[in-house]
Amino acid sequence: MAASVPARQEPQSPAGGSGSDVLQSRDRAREGRSELMQRVTEFVLKHDVALTGSNLSLLVAALSGSDSALARAFTAREISQEPFSQKWLDEMARSRSREEERKGSIEQLIDRVEASLTKFAQTAQTAEAETSEHRGAIDAHIATLAQNAVQDGSQLGIERLVDLSRVMLERIVQIEEAMKKSQAETADLKESLAEARAEANVDHLTNLPNRRAFETQLEKLSERAAERGEPLSVGFCDVDHFKSINDTHGHDAGDRVLVAIARTLQSYAGRNCFAARHGGEEFALLFPGADIAKAKVRLDKIRMDLSSRQMVNRDNGQSFGKITFSGGVSQIEGPEDARNALARADAALYKAKESGRDQVIAG
Ligand code: GH3
Ligand code: MG
Ligand code: MG
Repeated sequence: MAASVPARQEPQSPAGGSGSDVLQSRDRAREGRSELMQRVTEFVLKHDVALTGSNLSLLVAALSGSDSALARAFTAREISQEPFSQKWLDEMARSRSREEERKGSIEQLIDRVEASLTKFAQTAQTAEAETSEHRGAIDAHIATLAQNAVQDGSQLGIERLVDLSRVMLERIVQIEEAMKKSQAETADLKESLAEARAEANVDHLTNLPNRRAFETQLEKLSERAAERGEPLSVGFCDVDHFKSINDTHGHDAGDRVLVAIARTLQSYAGRNCFAARHGGEEFALLFPGADIAKAKVRLDKIRMDLSSRQMVNRDNGQSFGKITFSGGVSQIEGPEDARNALARADAALYKAKESGRDQVIAG
């Protein structure tokens, strides 16, 4: 499912780009579209796929690499030589829309709660300011009325008004207290929400940033790299024969190995490297400031560091053997190339697996 690598371009700044830069990037986008259409057509004819809207949108997502999990499922299907039946395509479409729905609804929910909390906090603050202003005015009025009533003798009407006003004042004081309490609760809720947002970006097993955080960082760093005219590369790595670690030592021990691998990756993370758990036993890295050659050297260094470690199963003292991964790197040629670059890194990773594992290939 390798997406073909577009011709290497100098990094461009979308904001300050010259007219010819803009034309070049338009040409490139057009070329990319026509190449994608060709791939979709070839796929439809080769696998005798029905031309429905659902099939086409699935094929575009898989063949453009915009959905890397789907692209991988297609590659695996191709390798296993099982047919791309309508039933399988429908299953893929269903699981894709479930995932989209899940992501979308969590995101929307957090946004909605945050928006209503902000609005509520503003309303509470305004209301509190208004009631305390009124309280001051009513307080002054009561004093004047009470004094007038004493001076005028027994003016029953005014006395009743004074009583009523006192009741109102009491009520306002109660409302003010309730408002203050609500404001404190709102502040607590906002804090919990910020924590929830941070948690939504962390992988719970390894504590590394998760795939969602990786996507956010990919967008941010590819825009920044384009603005600064600096290179940016991406790397994928997948642990070799991880299934056999689970089979030999059990799932819990497998989890501990994943945590140890994540710790190694995290030790390299910093200004020049962002590491995330992309899912399962697969990790994704971003190398700001690194062209493809530098990124390959960096990922190779991490690979060699990891494979030189002796890891032991603390349950029984047995060695886990040499833990290795295969990796693929590619350079991101501007934000609009990010998806294709991921597909190239993924294809390079597959090549590394096919070429015997425990190596990094540049794609
Ligand atoms: P390859 O070298 O081709 O990548 O072989 P592999 O065995 O690593 O790949 P495969 O895709 O066949 O198996 C991946 C295994 O990783 C299967 C799955 O059970 C395991 N796995 C994925 N996520 C976790 C996890 O969170 N914990 C544990 N213990 N295992 C996991
Ligand atoms: Mg895998
Ligand atoms: Mg693996």
